[in-house]
Amino acid sequence: MTNKNIISFLFFIFLSSIIRAEIITFDSHIDIPFDFMENSKHDPGDNSDMQVDIPKMQKGGMDAGFFVVYVPQGPLNEAGFKNAKKLAEKKFKAIVNMTRSYSSKITLALSPKDIYRAKENNLLSAAIGIENGYTIGEDISLLDYYYSLGARYMTLAHIGHNQISDSSIPSKRLNNSEKMHNGISSFGRKVIKRMNNIGMMVDISHISEEAAFEAIQLSRSPVIASHSCAKSIADHPRNLSDDLILALASKGGVIQVVAFPNYVKVDNSRFFSIMELGKEVAKIYGDRNFIPSMHAIKDEYTEGIKEINKRYPLPSVDDLIDHIDYIVELVGIDYVGISSDFGGGGILEGWIDASQTNFVTERLRKRGYSENDIKKIWGENILRVWREVEDISNLN
Ligand SMILES: [Zn+2]
Repeated sequence: MTNKNIISFLFFIFLSSIIRAEIITFDSHIDIPFDFMENSKHDPGDNSDMQVDIPKMQKGGMDAGFFVVYVPQGPLNEAGFKNAKKLAEKKFKAIVNMTRSYSSKITLALSPKDIYRAKENNLLSAAIGIENGYTIGEDISLLDYYYSLGARYMTLAHIGHNQISDSSIPSKRLNNSEKMHNGISSFGRKVIKRMNNIGMMVDISHISEEAAFEAIQLSRSPVIASHSCAKSIADHPRNLSDDLILALASKGGVIQVVAFPNYVKVDNSRFFSIMELGKEVAKIYGDRNFIPSMHAIKDEYTEGIKEINKRYPLPSVDDLIDHIDYIVELVGIDYVGISSDFGGGGILEGWIDASQTNFVTERLRKRGYSENDIKKIWGENILRVWREVEDISNLN
């Protein structure tokens, strides 16, 4: 190497170390309403009434997020599956539309590489995850189709058992019994296999403990829990037991602790007041059941929530970090990340929306986490899993 080459090589190393030292704040679960990009209040290009929009991300230093194509659980029949696909397509379109309409600010991320590139170019990133495998019905080829639309993870089930997996919370509305498949269904096994082959991350949040163990065992790639906390800290069926966290970590997966109040700190009085409010709001709009994507965006609901928050104080960012501490103690720094569930019920004192994201980083520093630890917690861990899932898919 000539001197000039050596100097430019060293400069390159120096530059890439700076880039690599930078924290990428990557929120793995952001919900969007069904009228995202349609209703002016739900236009992320401007200061909206959503917890996540472009100005709030920029203000709070939130670099990237998995925007979620959530579809509520419905009946397991042809009509139900058809409707779920229609609803999913609408949300895919809206997320892609956001990245096209505001391409100078936010870009669609189809691979971890896109997230790093966006950060270098001072752009925000939007990746896409599907919440609820109900959306594929009994048609495995829809996995490939949704992958082509940008989906890079899929939560196997939501509230209520589906054709793929048992849920951690059976649906009363759908007359679920306690179990349906005793874990993952035989169709679900094929789904996991196909997801591994195409490079879509398997998400075990929301599914039953039995199903989660099975999914981890069946998957050739590491799996994620896109938005769940530690059951030993908050005993809720949506949270992960120590054994499950150990199993997830032993396969190289990651648990993304979530800012959902009742999973951070179980408070039944608070929870029941919210359930009551939901029922009341649904009644006002002539519906029998509360549908979050429809009713949680109504003024009556948001005002009611404010009142409830006054009566039952929200858990704090420090309470969320207690879950991180616990998981780090149990399995180490490489298997934990963060998600907000903003738009889907996520909210904490100190992290009420994306504009306060820097505060979470600040509190992590206060807790004694090093810059390198924080880098892992905020993004590197889930980006590592995503890369591995990509690599394993390419080997098939
Ligand atoms: Zn969820």
